[in-house]
Amino acid sequence: MKLGALEAGGTKMVCAIGDEAGHIEKRRIFPTRTPEETVPEMLDFFAAEKIEAMGIASFGPVDLRKGSETWGYITSTPKKGWADFNLCGAFIRELGVPAGFDTDVNGACLGELLYGNGRGCSSLVYITVGTGLGMGICADGRLIHGMLHPEAGHMLVRKAPGDDFRGICPYHGDCLEGLCCGPAIEARYGITARELPGEDPAWGYTAYYIAQAAMNLILTVSPERIIIGGGVLGHPGLLEAIRARTQQLLAGYLKSPLLQNMDTYIMEPGCGGDQGVLGALKLAEEAAKDDKGRKMWYNEKTDK
Ligand code: ZN
Repeated sequence: MKLGALEAGGTKMVCAIGDEAGHIEKRRIFPTRTPEETVPEMLDFFAAEKIEAMGIASFGPVDLRKGSETWGYITSTPKKGWADFNLCGAFIRELGVPAGFDTDVNGACLGELLYGNGRGCSSLVYITVGTGLGMGICADGRLIHGMLHPEAGHMLVRKAPGDDFRGICPYHGDCLEGLCCGPAIEARYGITARELPGEDPAWGYTAYYIAQAAMNLILTVSPERIIIGGGVLGHPGLLEAIRARTQQLLAGYLKSPLLQNMDTYIMEPGCGGDQGVLGALKLAEEAAKDDKGRKMWYNEKTDK
């Protein structure tokens, strides 16, 4: 089956053609400009391929509520032109194919579960720490959506003694994203995460806060594995520090053989950067099987 996949990000749109076995045949990357500029480019790419269904894993927040008048929309993003934009609807309308839709991080979680370091797990948490801090959660084999969708990147954490940085989240200040995403590190020190020296205490703070998030997720979701990726994690030693801090914070409270080896419990992504696109291919495959449902959720009357 020929399927289309879109990993929609705030800076780039990764478009790919592939199949239900996760083979990526072709890909094209478009910079994310305004919807008027970028969407037609993507539609042209996919229209030339005669795909049977589309899968979209998008930055957000997005509306995933089945039956909602704005299902498939990007909702309240500060990204210019994209707030209240019917991203999924544009593909269903213009390509005439069913489309599956989820958050970028849930897409990446699904990709890791099927093809990456989450293989063999039925409960998995995927964390990305980059321009923002996002988390996708799969529990008992299903991506979690709930009322809206988890926004666990904004969870509150306990501040480290001596850390008086106020954080940069416009909503919460020093939530996890406000303290640990790439722009937070830049705001804290005036230099990018990449330029920050290896021994800087910032990395200790970053490891401590992400470890708290890992602990909170272990206690609430009980995943069989946690995968952490994103640009900030490119820093040497950070993943190891997060593993050690998480173990410390758990303080031996939970008894599971999985937690005995933190090197295999908290891992880096294993899809070579393709986890989002691979997850989107799976969303497309599911949409192809459920054509009627997806077209029902797409609401012509409220499309704009
Ligand atoms: Zn926040």
